[in-house]
Amino acid sequence: MLDASRRWRREGRSIGLVPTMGALHAGHMRLVETARAENDVVVVSHFVNPLQFGPHEDLERYPRDWERDRKLLEQADVDAVYRPARGVMYPPDASTRVRVSSVTDALEGAARPGHFEGVATVVTKLLAAVEPDRAYFGQKDAQQVAVVKRLTADLDLGVEIRAVATVREPDGLAMSSRNTYLSHEERKAAAAISGALREAAAAYATGERDPHRLRALMTARLSLEPLVRPEYVDLVDAATFQKPGTLAVIAARIGETRLIDNHDVSKPFPG
Ligand code: AMP
Repeated sequence: MLDASRRWRREGRSIGLVPTMGALHAGHMRLVETARAENDVVVVSHFVNPLQFGPHEDLERYPRDWERDRKLLEQADVDAVYRPARGVMYPPDASTRVRVSSVTDALEGAARPGHFEGVATVVTKLLAAVEPDRAYFGQKDAQQVAVVKRLTADLDLGVEIRAVATVREPDGLAMSSRNTYLSHEERKAAAAISGALREAAAAYATGERDPHRLRALMTARLSLEPLVRPEYVDLVDAATFQKPGTLAVIAARIGETRLIDNHDVSKPFPG
């Protein structure tokens, strides 16, 4: 456990942890604001976790700008930033991994083998280092939220996992550090993803309950943008990530960039 956390604990102050990989945007800052409102102390972790990237993914080109991030965190009145070096997080002799089953079977778990093992391992280590009362995750990565909730319940980690609503650009695109990869044309086309989720929610609101038709609707909306290549489009339960459910989930490639988004179609789409 970190020295500062030990002191805060002794003083009886509640601690909120916001895990990030840096390249901060308004989505991350919303997590920080939420943590700020609910805890005495806010800790942000800032670590690009190599374990959660596949061998052909974007680990090396993942955007990094510590100076910019540092200023943003300072302005947001964060009490501490935990920024471990790779070798401290994963010494060469480290040989333990945390694996969550079932909820990781489909969708992101199937598309990115090893991804959730990397997430579960780093989250377990961050929780052990900071020992927060609450940890904050974005609903944007809905399956990650489900995995972390499962993990913390199963291991009796005694931390409350808080999911924070997705922050979106004015045209609906979910904010993501990976949006910076998009060209101007690709960026315009990317709005089709949230557009598809919005249409599914609108159809649900007018009585459509058939998951096949809701799915077809989303696929049709995506197909209007030739630059968008859907990887999966589905409806699942938000806790188990099994069918049936009302959480619409989409992964799509636009050029080299892979984006994900989701929305519970039983609720109105924001904006
Ligand atoms: P990352 O740095 O991409 O690992 O994200 C760190 C945390 O921020 C994760 O819990 C994400 O789900 C969350 N996050 C990323 N994008 C958004 C967004 N647009 N709205 C809300 N939370 C987000």
